[in-house]
Parts: sequence; C-alpha cells; structure tokens
Amino acid sequence: MSKNIVERYLVLKNKYRNYDTKYALKRMQAFRLATQELSRKGYEVALELLGSINFGIVDPTSDVDCILLLECDLHKDQGSCPHHCNNLTFVKAEISKFVTKRLAPESFNIDYLDSINLKYVEEKIRTETVLGDETLYCLLFYRNIGRPVNRPLFIPFCDQLEENHDFVKEIIPWASEALEGYLNTNQHRMSFNKYNERIRARGLSLPEGLQQELQAYMEGES
Ligand SMILES: [Zn+2]
Repeated sequence: MSKNIVERYLVLKNKYRNYDTKYALKRMQAFRLATQELSRKGYEVALELLGSINFGIVDPTSDVDCILLLECDLHKDQGSCPHHCNNLTFVKAEISKFVTKRLAPESFNIDYLDSINLKYVEEKIRTETVLGDETLYCLLFYRNIGRPVNRPLFIPFCDQLEENHDFVKEIIPWASEALEGYLNTNQHRMSFNKYNERIRARGLSLPEGLQQELQAYMEGES
C-alpha cells in the first residue's frame, strides 16, 4: 500500500512530462549549462528541480524550487553544508547569475530548498555506514520526486543505495510518509490545478483518463 503512492506519483509525473513547454525545456538547458560552467571552474554540482518544472508545465514567471547537490571538502562530515559555507554560497550565486542572464528578460526566483554534500554521501557509502542516515534517505527521495540536472554526478550513489536491500527496506516507509506530506500541502494541490489550467489554456486537451487518474490519486492517498 505504502509503496503504491510512490509508484502512482511516478506514473502521473511521467504522463505530465509529455506536456513539456518550450519554457520548461529552455530552463532545463540553462541549468545544465550552468553546471557545466561551474565544472570548468572546478566546482562539481548537480540539481534536482522540484515544482512545476518537474511536470513540464512552466511559464516565464514560474519560480524554480530546487535541491542543490555539491561536492564540498570543507564539510565532508556533514550531510549538508552550513549556510555560511563559502562553496555553497558561491555555487548558489553562480547558478542564479548564469540562469537569470541566459533567460533574460524572463524574471523568476530560484529557491534552494535543501542541499546535499556528495562528499559526505561518498564517504558513507565507502565506509558502509548508510543505514539510518537521513541525508541518504533525502538523496533518494529527491531523486524520485525531482527532475535531475547533471545526473551523472550523483546517479552512481543512488544506484548503489538502491542495490542495498536493507537500506531500501528502511527507506520505503520513510519515503511514503515524506511523499504524503509533500503531496498534502495545499500548495501542491493548487499546483496541479494550475498545471491543468495551463494545459487547457494552450489549447491542448488532457488525454482521456489523465484527469480521472489525477482525481483518484489525490483522493486515494490518505
Ligand atoms: Zn561546505
């Protein structure tokens, strides 16, 4: 039962993804180029984009919610860098600057909801101390609900965690609860209505069944 909600969410997300707007695609590309630019400067970063872009429905003013994944040697022993971390501050500013410049005159906010230090993740996996680690739970959770930018940087870690049966056994109930919390926020419900409105406004009709599926999904989760 609890596994179902995650599966239903993924199915729905993939169906909406077919409606990718040109704004969503342009944004994905801008973020991709920003991570490449940072890599040239010696900073390895990746992102999980959440919110409307995750469903492919974006207009030029939609804000971007994202999770930042970075490699920080200064805070190897912490799942996420403290707010004052120089590396964290620098890459956030660089990404925002690059993306904003590239997509001008579109204007929108980029909110970094969380960050994960991949050096910490790497060390946990290397020392086989992954069980019970909330940072690692979050990494896999974000991977499932987000839309990745520079996926090759961190996907080997996700694969290794998913191959660990004890870890997977732990994370399923945790992830289901986290997903229910995420979906039950009013903001998320409103977002779905907004997506549907935008699809209709562009003259596309929702495929038969998608509407019912959404309905059943929203009602069936509690
Ligand atoms: Zn740091």
